[in-house]
Amino acid sequence: MEPGTYYQCQRCANCCRWPGEVPVSDEELQRIADYLEMPLYDFVAKHTDLRLNRTGLTLKEKPNGECEFLDGNECTINPVKPIQCAGFPNEWNFKGWRESCEAIPLPEKPD
Ligand code: SF4
Repeated sequence: MEPGTYYQCQRCANCCRWPGEVPVSDEELQRIADYLEMPLYDFVAKHTDLRLNRTGLTLKEKPNGECEFLDGNECTINPVKPIQCAGFPNEWNFKGWRESCEAIPLPEKPD
């Protein structure tokens, strides 16, 4: 990643389709449950699994590995999505991420 470059998401939803954990904090769980107008306990029971390292919860995946909250190319919890989703690719990414992510590099973050 070039220093000073901001990558503007193009909503291709490829990152929502990669299998893998999406850790959610207690605050994020509550925010998403409130957004979906579900009691916290029901949301946790229906939409989360224990992380493999047993340190917390992760959002459930569909059988094909994509996020359970992905509908077509739309995130159905976009206004309250977890920080892991909101932070990619500018806050964190991984080797080879550009091969799958369609974000456009800009000299700075737009207002
Ligand atoms: S892969 Fe990149 S461009 Fe596509 S939705 Fe994720 S962050 Fe946005």
